[in-house]
Amino acid sequence: MSGVAIGLDLGGHGVRGVVLDAEANILADERVWIDEEGDRGIDEVEDLIAHVVDVLRTSTDASTPIGIGVPGFHDHTAGILRNSPNFPGWEDLPVAARLTERLGAPVTVENDANCALLGEALAGAARGCADVILLTLGTGVGSAFLVNGTLLRGARGAGAEAGHVALYPGGRKCGCGKKGCLEMYAGSTGLVVTAGDAWSEEGGEGPCPATEAIDVFSAEADAGGPQPGLWASRAIERYCLDLATGLAALVNIFAPEAIVLGGGISGALARIGPPIETELKRRSIGACLGDALPIRAAELGDLAGAVGAASWSLKSRLRSGR
Ligand SMILES: [Zn+2]
Repeated sequence: MSGVAIGLDLGGHGVRGVVLDAEANILADERVWIDEEGDRGIDEVEDLIAHVVDVLRTSTDASTPIGIGVPGFHDHTAGILRNSPNFPGWEDLPVAARLTERLGAPVTVENDANCALLGEALAGAARGCADVILLTLGTGVGSAFLVNGTLLRGARGAGAEAGHVALYPGGRKCGCGKKGCLEMYAGSTGLVVTAGDAWSEEGGEGPCPATEAIDVFSAEADAGGPQPGLWASRAIERYCLDLATGLAALVNIFAPEAIVLGGGISGALARIGPPIETELKRRSIGACLGDALPIRAAELGDLAGAVGAASWSLKSRLRSGR
């Protein structure tokens, strides 16, 4: 089927897949979950991917090209996934070559956040925009940039890792091995740590009751909303300040038309959006930010990555003339 691609989004919780046509219509949709306690080795995950592809191929054919978004640090020149925070033990793996052989069709591998941005730009919150920043506020912080309509990939395709820009040099230790990275403050794990600090500062005794990001927002809502002296409000305000500080640096560089926030914490955009926008105005250059505040919630949810991966596969095929 010409002009049709399979797009897959591999995440820490599962594999989502779609069949997409050239007009961005989803012709089929399938997902499998990765058992929380299950084996996350490359062979086991490849089995799950192959299962999703088998199901999707009932709606297309075996030669349909496949794009897949994979979390982690990639070297696209070498065709290697260097490592992935979601899949410990995946080191220096030629994922695209392995999957091309296993699935018997051309497989394009791209960073998962890049795929999510391509999906949102094609059919979601950034539709029609040429200059876009996407941050996924999940456990960590994924990022992707559309610059003049082109995905920013950097040398070796390894760039666009705003989550690992140092917000506080010498700060919290990050999974990347550095200290003070933005994602250690703007990811959900970071919010829980910030909440623990706020709990102590507000005189809380014993361990902070927040073990997940949602607990912080729930505690504030249960208390009747934002208020001085409440640990949860203190944590959320500090979270917004940290995220806005990171975003302001990006705004000053990229002057985006839209900032798309996805991931779990973006579900609290009604709460965090206004203080982030206030800080963004204070901290970024007015000419770079523009008059219209650009923050938007992602629209495609967990479909964005699969849709973007499929569109990237179609574009890759056009570029290579396959
Ligand atoms: Zn880092």
